[in-house]
Amino acid sequence: MSEYAQAIIESMHESLITMSPDLRIRKANKYFYDTFRVKPAQTEGYYLYELGNGQWEIPELQKNLKLLQNSNQQFANFEVDHDFPGIGRRSMLLDAQKFTLKDRKEESILLSIRDITTRKQIENSVRESEERLQLLIQNTYDIITILSKEGDILYESNSVERILGYKPTERTGKNIFKVPIVHPDDIKQKEAAFEKAVASSSEIVKAEFRLRHKDGSYKDIEAVYVNLIHDSQIAGIVANYHDVADQRKVERQREEFVSIASHELKTPVTSMKGYIQILRDMFSVADDSMSADLMEKLDYQVDFDIDQLIHEVVTEMQLTTKKHLIVADLKAGKKINADRERIGQVLSNLISNAVKYSPDADKIIITSSSNGENVAVSVQDFGIGIRPDMQKKVFDRFFRFSDPAGKNYPGLGPGLYIASEIIKRHGGTINLASEKKQGSTFSFTIPYKN
Ligand code: ADP
Repeated sequence: MSEYAQAIIESMHESLITMSPDLRIRKANKYFYDTFRVKPAQTEGYYLYELGNGQWEIPELQKNLKLLQNSNQQFANFEVDHDFPGIGRRSMLLDAQKFTLKDRKEESILLSIRDITTRKQIENSVRESEERLQLLIQNTYDIITILSKEGDILYESNSVERILGYKPTERTGKNIFKVPIVHPDDIKQKEAAFEKAVASSSEIVKAEFRLRHKDGSYKDIEAVYVNLIHDSQIAGIVANYHDVADQRKVERQREEFVSIASHELKTPVTSMKGYIQILRDMFSVADDSMSADLMEKLDYQVDFDIDQLIHEVVTEMQLTTKKHLIVADLKAGKKINADRERIGQVLSNLISNAVKYSPDADKIIITSSSNGENVAVSVQDFGIGIRPDMQKKVFDRFFRFSDPAGKNYPGLGPGLYIASEIIKRHGGTINLASEKKQGSTFSFTIPYKN
């Protein structure tokens, strides 16, 4: 072998071994010695399977070498996974062929060994992460769609079936403009958003529209489009469709609830009281004592002892908490002319909030007092308190303060809004004094001569 060829072989990053026809090793290159940690003295003249305590005893390899030795059958890209004591598990690609050097009469066998362990590891991890991504997209809550810039659906995730009832295969290949499922009134919005996404590769375009479920009903969808036409992997517009039906339903329920409540609140207590008195007088004149009694009960609903009502609500609310003692210091001593049911509702809302938002405290204090015109009631807790900038907002319609500590307090929200409406419609005022981590005091006044 020329020195030149020898130099090349020595510098190669691949193991090379030459063998004589009887499969004894003539020479191996440096890379082989380094990689498999053997020395020339223990290698040259030996069989491959004898090296390094028999670490090359690989039956398939033996078989292939024998075939080559006896029948000229060369082999290429023969893959072997093998545990080498000391260097660990390796994946190798083996090639072998016979050749004859000019200066020798005898044939030689050249065996090359390429270590593909790292390559295989990378291939595996790429495959795994691809599979993971695929799984993620297929199981995502939203619908992920990839569209051509003409609007052909190139891919649609499985969630399309859960949200819109179509199998992914039913929609894939369709054109969103030629076979639209968008609500006729929303076509313009949807097209505009899509065109905007096609025109710009840097912008995230958002839109809202209704899409038709397979059963014919329409779903409210929030869509986000991203243009990835120039991304060679995706080559399309990626659309993310989020089903906002549940969200909308809750919003609608809240709206309805509040409008019903507001409507009820409009009934003026005073005129109600007037009618009751007229009816009661009429019934007692007519000697209808049962109806007169009933009217008396009704009258009690609009003319009642505020301390008595507080006492009743406190007794009831005390049943809902073992942790807190609800202490009542009641000194109003007045009958008030108001809607008993509604004022009771305000009290239970304030007390239940006091319980809910003071999970680490053990006491809630209720007071009542009166002056010449008003009764005043306060509900004090020693809980989480409310930040100054939030204090004005708690009486807002849908205010819900999310706790930065991530604690979740269940509730519907409009409680305090309704409470403040009830008090205002009785000609009263409602207030809040609070300090973060010290607690809150909600107080209200109502004129007792309504
Ligand atoms: P809900 O308690 O059902 O969310 P509310 O209208 O009764 O609705 O209260 C609105 C918000 O005001 C609550 O979400 C909470 O953040 C805050 N809040 C009400 N009462 C208290 C209180 N006693 N202490 C601390 N925060 C309160």
